[in-house]
Amino acid sequence: MGPRKREAKKRKTQEAEGRESRRTRKNRGNEKYIGAHVSIQGGIWKAVEACRQMGGRSFALFLGSQRSWTRPALDQTAADKFQEQCSRHGFDPAHILPHGSYLMNCGSPKQDVFEKSRALLVDELSRCELLGLHLYNFHPGSSLGAITTEQCAEKIAGAINHAHQQTPAVVTVLENMCGQGHTLGGKFSELKSIIDKVRDQTRVGVCLDTCHAFAAGYDLSGEGGVKAMLDGFNQEVGLRYLKAIHVNDSKGKLGCNLDRHEDIGKGLIGMSAFRDIVNEPRLDSVPLILETPGRPGFEYAEQIALLYSLCEEK
Ligand SMILES: [Zn+2]
Ligand SMILES: [Zn+2]
Repeated sequence: MGPRKREAKKRKTQEAEGRESRRTRKNRGNEKYIGAHVSIQGGIWKAVEACRQMGGRSFALFLGSQRSWTRPALDQTAADKFQEQCSRHGFDPAHILPHGSYLMNCGSPKQDVFEKSRALLVDELSRCELLGLHLYNFHPGSSLGAITTEQCAEKIAGAINHAHQQTPAVVTVLENMCGQGHTLGGKFSELKSIIDKVRDQTRVGVCLDTCHAFAAGYDLSGEGGVKAMLDGFNQEVGLRYLKAIHVNDSKGKLGCNLDRHEDIGKGLIGMSAFRDIVNEPRLDSVPLILETPGRPGFEYAEQIALLYSLCEEK
């Protein structure tokens, strides 16, 4: 073999090796569980297929009607179908985050509302158990300005402790809020104050909503903003409690205290923060769930694909 031929052969081998290593090289996206809040219309098991069709690897769903305090029991056949769909399509309970009813206010100073909320919390956790789910996300509650933040946190933790006694295993996941009115959980310290009052701390966690955090004054939009937010959360609460992220851009300004979700990259948080989120190693295997409005041509499927396209090589 002449030197020129040998050179050509060497080049070919190098090219083939390059192709191979590109294929096997690790992309951050492999560790990311990006998905969306999906509908349960037509049966709770339909949520799984809906998520699969949009290319999601995690999802959120409601466990029943958002309008009523009392709901017909979840039937076993529906629950079985749901579990069957999850295992068929490879969805792990760690990446499924049911969202609690908006009616609940576990921090309510009104005794009747507090009791109804506490009962609904037990009902929802029981539904999770039946569905084989391990996590349950809800909004902490509001003092309505009638009691102190501390008293409100005590009520919320009381409702959680009660629900933990009534059900065996599901982890109750508090969502951070945008700080509107008298709602609790806009500040990380308020989430911590609730967690501190929960007896079984293996059964409590936090879901960080990016839109809510931004509206509450945590500036994740700038350079290093996502890291700073997570560092702050780690210091004040502890990353071990972080069970999920709601990935939403914000129509409202930093610190506006308004809950106005916007599509990814179209709001005031902006694309670079979302790039940082999907490439953040501390968020590996944490479900990243969209709750954005969606617009024609930029629905959940497109936003999920966009987020995966932002994932870089490790
Ligand atoms: Zn929420
Ligand atoms: Zn949310």
